[in-house]
Amino acid sequence: MRNRAFKWLLVSLACIGLVAVSLSGCGTVEPTGSATYTPGTYTAVGQGNFGDVEVSVTFSAARIVSIAIGKNSETAGLSDPALDGIPAAIVKGQTLAVDTVSGASHSSEAVLSAVADCVRQAGGDVEALKAKKGAKATKGARIEKSVDVVIVGGGGAGLAAAVSAAQNGAKVVLIEKASALGGNTIRAGGAYNAVDPSRQRAVKMTAPLLGDLKSFLDMDEKSFGEFGPTLATLKGQIRDYIASGSSVLFDSVELHAIQTYLGGKRVDLRGNEIHGDLELVKTLTSGSPEALRWLESLGLTFKDEISTVLGALWPRTHGSTYHVGTGFISVLADNAARLGVEIMLDTKADEVIVEKGRVVGVKATKADGTPVVLKASKGVVMATGGYGANPEMRAEYNTYWPSMPLAMPTTNTANATGDGIVMGEKAGAKLVGMGFVQLMPSSHPVSGALSGGLWGSAESQVFVNKQGKRFVNEYAERDVLASAALKQTDGIFYIICDQVTAGNPQPGSKNGWGDDVDTLVKNHDVYKADTLAGLEQQIGMPAGSLSSEIARYNGYIAAGADPDFGKRNFGTPLLTPPFYATIRSPSVHHTMGGLAIDASARVLGASGEAIPGFYAAGEVTGGIHAGNRLGGNAIADIMVFGRIAGASAAATK
Ligand code: ADP
Repeated sequence: MRNRAFKWLLVSLACIGLVAVSLSGCGTVEPTGSATYTPGTYTAVGQGNFGDVEVSVTFSAARIVSIAIGKNSETAGLSDPALDGIPAAIVKGQTLAVDTVSGASHSSEAVLSAVADCVRQAGGDVEALKAKKGAKATKGARIEKSVDVVIVGGGGAGLAAAVSAAQNGAKVVLIEKASALGGNTIRAGGAYNAVDPSRQRAVKMTAPLLGDLKSFLDMDEKSFGEFGPTLATLKGQIRDYIASGSSVLFDSVELHAIQTYLGGKRVDLRGNEIHGDLELVKTLTSGSPEALRWLESLGLTFKDEISTVLGALWPRTHGSTYHVGTGFISVLADNAARLGVEIMLDTKADEVIVEKGRVVGVKATKADGTPVVLKASKGVVMATGGYGANPEMRAEYNTYWPSMPLAMPTTNTANATGDGIVMGEKAGAKLVGMGFVQLMPSSHPVSGALSGGLWGSAESQVFVNKQGKRFVNEYAERDVLASAALKQTDGIFYIICDQVTAGNPQPGSKNGWGDDVDTLVKNHDVYKADTLAGLEQQIGMPAGSLSSEIARYNGYIAAGADPDFGKRNFGTPLLTPPFYATIRSPSVHHTMGGLAIDASARVLGASGEAIPGFYAAGEVTGGIHAGNRLGGNAIADIMVFGRIAGASAAATK
């Protein structure tokens, strides 16, 4: 909620000030006869993503004078455009017919319903205000701009590309179809995988991790195809490491590459095999430590602790000191502004302009209908993200999951509709890996969101179904977890934690997403009890089921082996009350396929040749993660390839 109070103050002071001079200034719409109020300030709450959003509205006899957002647990950064923008639009238009902010719809609706409540309390006519259009946006004259580089999409990849292109001397325009920057990146957990000896020095090499590492020595290079030489190098590193007798965690870019390759190598329902492209995977794993340092040089700070985000397979996950994914966006956006990048919000790219086989610009439309033509003398970078929020496209391409119901929820913003894939294909790009979609196993069953729960690093998580029984090795890849979860009753499972593995929450504390833990418990997103039997009772599991399952699991930790599901990496035993259970179910998370690119982020055409002037980065691309992406590899990908795409475009002759 940084800056929120300040921004509100500006909005309301500006309005109040201008009202004194002229009612047609900030408050451009005159009150109607039906909307009259009993003057005063009224307070109400609306239901946001994470509980109540408190709103106070001040009325004069004729107008909504100002709106203040009070106590709430909405996600800072992610919800700001709604909590700032909706009140401003209501005051300006003297209307409740205000569009919700895409990507922050629940927060928007919370504000709208609370303001409606206040209108009612003040004796106003809610229905009249809902029917009343605000100052109508009018389509402007066509906007034309000529720059060096045009970037489409203002998520992590687009902003990284913008900063990088500008650092390399290019004049840059970035267009974003939403009213705010951030895309899926700002709502992601912000997990960033990178080999990082200085931070990983603090991580001990446990026996299970060593067991995992030694298993690579038994693998045969011959069955690794183009990744054979990488495996050979890794085996040499592992032998040297074992000979050194070190007790510090082993890691290398080759291990990261082989894990990315194995994690992504999959066969679809039609028997087609897919694996990551060697050059792209190597670029990712060798580039992510470097991109991390680049982000640090731009002012992004990372925590010292290293963890293993779900499905990451190895402790190399970094988290920024900012709230979830917000730091990546705010730091890059600040740098883009500093470097003179022009950012056009509410501007949707419709078409890539191709002249004589070369991409030379983009046609777009602003939200008010104004046509925009952007000419790019050097190149266009497509960074529009995936198609996780386009159910028809998911269903059309899916060849991996037995079913891909249109109604399956998603962790994605509503703007992840695959526009860049459609535009790119029309411009001649080849598509790769489109049959594969990653389901996030542990999402909220209704909203599909990643947030709203309590858990720790992957090894410490315990999944049980409605019968209180474990059903999978919780340290496995995400597609393995999602597939197992979908086979449980109603596709529902619970992540069980004790006080320690839950991160020691205290009354009033927040989880890693900034959710208020007490509110999560109050809303039954999380169950909390002093005993496991208490959890069984609250959830409705058979008596004794969870208690005996956790006792057995604690025994496996002590023995260092899990005969049920083969888990080898464990956290601490679950012994310390209170105990917590977070309800979860798989939702659509990351669309694996997209535009084919090379290691310079050049978009490739049907026969594998680079399309001049055309670059792409981030989730809009395919070929890196193949059939299943490792947890924590997406942010690394968008930063590495976003940075490369910007630099490549800027260097175009
Ligand atoms: P990535 O992780 O690859 O950066 P994100 O989802 O974080 O992907 O960001 C992609 C951004 O692109 C989103 O902010 C989305 O609103 C924006 N976007 C999608 N389609 C278009 C389009 N047609 N024109 C402009 N912006 C778009």
